[in-house]
Amino acid sequence: MFDPSHTIPGLAAFPRQPLSQGQTPLEALPALGSKLGIVLSTKRDDCQTLAFGGNKVRQLEFYFGAAVQMAADSVLITGALQSNFTRLTAAAARRLGLVPHIQLEERVAKTDPLYHSSGNLFLNQLLGAEIDFFPSGEEEAAADRALDQRAEELRAAGGRPYVIHLGLDHPPIGGLGYVAAAAELWAQLEGATERPDLIVVPSGSGLTHAGMLVGVRALGWQVAVQGIAVRRGADMQRPRVRQRAAELAAMIGRLELIDDGDILIDDSVLAPGYGQLNPATKEAITLAAGREGLLLDPVYSGRCLAGLIDLVRRGEIAPETRVLFLHTGGLPALFAYQNLMDEAQSKYE
Ligand SMILES: *Cc1c(COP(=O)(O)O)cnc(C)c1O
Repeated sequence: MFDPSHTIPGLAAFPRQPLSQGQTPLEALPALGSKLGIVLSTKRDDCQTLAFGGNKVRQLEFYFGAAVQMAADSVLITGALQSNFTRLTAAAARRLGLVPHIQLEERVAKTDPLYHSSGNLFLNQLLGAEIDFFPSGEEEAAADRALDQRAEELRAAGGRPYVIHLGLDHPPIGGLGYVAAAAELWAQLEGATERPDLIVVPSGSGLTHAGMLVGVRALGWQVAVQGIAVRRGADMQRPRVRQRAAELAAMIGRLELIDDGDILIDDSVLAPGYGQLNPATKEAITLAAGREGLLLDPVYSGRCLAGLIDLVRRGEIAPETRVLFLHTGGLPALFAYQNLMDEAQSKYE
């Protein structure tokens, strides 16, 4: 297995539990790129080998590293009903013989029955996760508290639970997975005549975004990392990514690695909000499928490509720029949004 600790020394201090085999592929997207007038490629983090893959596999390698180190017998996490993080936590826990406890939040106001039964929700059930429901949506700290309460009950019963905390008052351990991913990407590009000028990533919790940014800067690579907001507007997301990046840099022993000017966030395709399919995202999903046979999801990767397309159309990404699109996975959610995609399919020429 590729070991990034050789190129980013500070990473080696953190326990890591491998959850996927090998490096994820880099692929050119010539047809889509020429339609947009840029040189487009993608890093296929949807091709991680665990349970349909996605960016959370890299993040979970570090959470499970910590869980295994403390000899945990269960793992707890909270997320949206169609969260990929909970699905991959359940799969990783099952692989390692731990019991997954998943708290599902009603974060997206939806009435579609598929959203409440198919996609990641179905997979969580198939993986035998212990599922609790948490009623409200946006309050991260409250969801974390409910999770801690459940962990306390398990402890009282003699268990050894490990809690994956996603709130800003806990260290961004998962972001280390994308510090490592930057090193993997750098190694893959060794000997390449042309490297990307710009890496485009979805920005949700911000750990993928902050991790990638800290990783490339730790390698001395000045490539721009553009976040596409998928959950919060740019005004809220910018300080969040800034904070996470500063924390990650400190964790690997590299203070002063990131400037304010490094934090690039665009939220022009965020409306009407998290997890709500909009026309730009439908168009991006349909274009990627029709031009490249590339599947994207409605919540993250599809919206990220939509944001990239919008930046090109607004002239923010110049013609012929070499752009690397990070495919973060999320594909099971496609099936939970199937009814909402029908209309888009019929429009593709
Ligand atoms: C969680 C998720 C994201 C967002 O990543 P963050 O690290 O939370 O910003 C992007 N894509 C997919 C498919 C995800 O599941």
